[in-house]
Amino acid sequence: MTLDTLVKPEVNANLDTFAPFDTAEFDHYVMTTYGRFPLTLVRGEGCRVWDDRGKVYLDFVAGIATCTLGHAHPVMVEAVTRQMQTLHHVSNLYYIPQQGELAKWLVDRSCADRAFFCNSGAEANEGAIKLARKYAKVKRGIENPVIITAHASFHGRTLATVTATGQPKYQKNFSPLVPGFHYVPYNDIEALRATIAELDRDQSQVAAIMLEPLQGEGGVNPGNEAYFQQVRQLCDETGILLILDEVQVGMGRSGKLWGYENLGIEPDIFTSAKGLGGGIPIGALLCKSSCDVFEPGDHASTYGGNPFVCGVALAVCQYVEASNLIENVKERGAQLTYGLQKLANQYPHLIELSRGWGLIQGLVLRSDISMGAIDLVKSAMEAGLLLVPAGPTVVRFVPPLLVTAEEIDKALLVLDRLFAAL
Ligand SMILES: *Cc1c(COP(=O)(O)O)cnc(C)c1O
Repeated sequence: MTLDTLVKPEVNANLDTFAPFDTAEFDHYVMTTYGRFPLTLVRGEGCRVWDDRGKVYLDFVAGIATCTLGHAHPVMVEAVTRQMQTLHHVSNLYYIPQQGELAKWLVDRSCADRAFFCNSGAEANEGAIKLARKYAKVKRGIENPVIITAHASFHGRTLATVTATGQPKYQKNFSPLVPGFHYVPYNDIEALRATIAELDRDQSQVAAIMLEPLQGEGGVNPGNEAYFQQVRQLCDETGILLILDEVQVGMGRSGKLWGYENLGIEPDIFTSAKGLGGGIPIGALLCKSSCDVFEPGDHASTYGGNPFVCGVALAVCQYVEASNLIENVKERGAQLTYGLQKLANQYPHLIELSRGWGLIQGLVLRSDISMGAIDLVKSAMEAGLLLVPAGPTVVRFVPPLLVTAEEIDKALLVLDRLFAAL
């Protein structure tokens, strides 16, 4: 069996619809903010996508942990069609039933009491930062509130969220950054305590600690349970708010609906985006009623929570629940974990370890070899498997939540052959 037959489509794509795409023209007109692979995807179905030449790929990127139900899912097609045919956009000057229903769905299934809707992860985190700052001012009388975030974190690309992101490579050339952020090592309670004590001595007061339950972009690094419980306790004792960024790990990907459920704690505020709408642009800011200090005029978003995105996201959420998709995440996650662990044992000269939760897994390559994450991603792409790096040495696996046992096996087999050939 060749690698080509491994990812052979069960449903034949109509090859007549494929025509090679002119990437040079694209590059002429579109700003080069992305280092793109020379690949043009034109069609998808389930966990498979086709390029402009008709070649099929197993998609373990899913728009970076976004296509919860894979591609062209009938539930999404139906919801998109129905909502477009009824009403797709009105202003938040008026009541929007789908927005209220989605908020209720999320509140009923999380520790939060209220929701605000926007269009992306960065925008949700911006909202969280604004909410935490206002809370610090009106509830705690803090004049210059500080927000602590972690090294290797990722919170978005707007000016405030790129400042919150604890990775200098994303901040380079964009100074002056937004004031009021401090960084600590992830999963290190002593470093956090020391930073808070130091800020205290400087008369700076901490408004919030903002963390990912599992660092996605920064290397698929899961939060430590004991650490998060100590952070929660520290927040309870001091009045500092705990903000969790669930943009990548939330909405079932970790094997629980929310990443924080893996850590035995509840945040005061959390954000969601990526998987929430299965690929339509939506973000959400959620909080406990005790910290909901927003009043009319404080925050807004033109598209945020419109009937279209909320109607579709609600359909995605309801389908995740009705089809017990989180059970599939647990089973397929265990299968993937086992397979990656086996590869790590088989190729110790290439692989350092594997780590992750559910269907967000990372394969950490040894840093003393010439092959980096990007090289493995390119070879896998050649072989018909799409993967995405999470930093220089980590390859990330974030397939749609409805990935099958057979598809996980195919992906593992492709990797096994790649490693064996090295
Ligand atoms: C992707 C991501 C963001 C940013 O989301 P956008 O929708 O790209 O703005 C923020 N936080 C985390 C943890 C993410 O993975």
